[in-house]
Amino acid sequence: MKLLVLAAPSGSGKTTLVHRLLKEFPKLAFSISATTRKPRLNEQDGIDYHFLSLTDFKRKINSESFLEWEEVYENNFYGSLKSDVQKLWSKGQTVIFDIDVHGGIRLKKKYDLNTLSIFIMPPSIDALENRLRERGADSEERIYDRLAKAKEEISFAKKFDHVIVNDQIEVAFKQIHSLVTKFMSP
Ligand code: 5GP
Repeated sequence: MKLLVLAAPSGSGKTTLVHRLLKEFPKLAFSISATTRKPRLNEQDGIDYHFLSLTDFKRKINSESFLEWEEVYENNFYGSLKSDVQKLWSKGQTVIFDIDVHGGIRLKKKYDLNTLSIFIMPPSIDALENRLRERGADSEERIYDRLAKAKEEISFAKKFDHVIVNDQIEVAFKQIHSLVTKFMSP
């Protein structure tokens, strides 16, 4: 049972890195989180996230269905479902988590030696702001929220096993690739 945790402020290029890792390592499987936020245009239910109502999400909290969950943004809940993750583990797959910093730290604490935790650091707050604007997925208010959250998240980077600066994606990917190769080897 192995966990690969990738945490990063929103807009750090984390999702791209996760997709590349999944392509490269067939033994890796993505943990599809549940969330109460609305799907973006290109997102599909059951592929990018399990999109749930707040009521359903809270029901799952009460029934202890989550390995971990967080209210990442006010009224926007995100969580990793135990049942999904256990299914992947039972097939011998290493589960990759694209989650927020606090969720990542929680999983590392819980599954210590079975976990490789990597923090993807944006080259600067300005670069992050530019990426969020270019992505065009969020309103001004949401961008402001995400930047405030990013600053807070960066202060926890030292709690991760490794910090990788994502300035040039090819360089970052190579570094992560080598860490994951070592971690996955029996
Ligand atoms: P977004 O709304 O941009 O998809 O995600 C916002 C943040 O929530 C990202 O940092 C993402 O990694 C995080 N997130 C996604 N799924 C989970 C989860 O299951 N648990 C936690 N704690 N955070 C998550």
